[in-house]
Amino acid sequence: CGIVGYIGNEDARDILLKGLSNLEYRGYDSAGIALLNDDGVHVFKEKGRIAVLRNSVDPAVHATLGIGHTRWATHGQPNKRNAHPHQSASGRFTLVHNGVIENYAQLKADYLTGVTLKSETDTEVVVQLIEKFADQGLGTEEALRKTLKLLDGSYAFALVDAKDDATLYVAKNKSPLLIGLGEGFNVVASDATAMIQKTKRYVELMDEEIVILKRDSYTIKDLDGTVTTRKPYTVSFDA
Ligand code: GLU
Repeated sequence: CGIVGYIGNEDARDILLKGLSNLEYRGYDSAGIALLNDDGVHVFKEKGRIAVLRNSVDPAVHATLGIGHTRWATHGQPNKRNAHPHQSASGRFTLVHNGVIENYAQLKADYLTGVTLKSETDTEVVVQLIEKFADQGLGTEEALRKTLKLLDGSYAFALVDAKDDATLYVAKNKSPLLIGLGEGFNVVASDATAMIQKTKRYVELMDEEIVILKRDSYTIKDLDGTVTTRKPYTVSFDA
């Protein structure tokens, strides 16, 4: 299973698909990508190989921001409906997740009684919670941090807000996730092999950190919003 994300100036689709192919060795049962452009968020997902996903992606959709996922199902059958990305009720928020949210059933009972879930995954509860808190007036970063504080379990998350094409939101706890730095773009990936063709400069993330990723900057914060600075390192292997 794995995660990739791209925010920059190039066409994100092929970068994401290539990144997911590079992560195939980790094992997965389904895969998907989401692309954000002026028309909104476009989600493509399929059970099976990346090649199957590649064939299902509309080549006419161009975007410079996107996220991708290979799934190793833990909650819900490996099928198209449960494949990531998952979206909130209004479609505003789109999320990919590696890991397990142990208290998802309790969270659903406590906060989401009026929400009809579209999948059987623990992940969808998270994206619905983010929208719920955003609807109550929180900004996206605050809604994300509030949601993360409620979670028990492991996660690597990449989140897209359809109302903000300048930001990719990232979070990590007990699942691997790195930020990769480029010139005029930045990426997120489960490991450096995914994006090694794009960049060799990476920033490590610690547990319970979020990253506000822009095309030309990255800001690491803890769940209370306090900023942490951390320098990148250069990986020495070739793809
Ligand atoms: N728990 C999530 C699911 O079952 C994510 C699994 C993964 O790490 O791919 O959909």
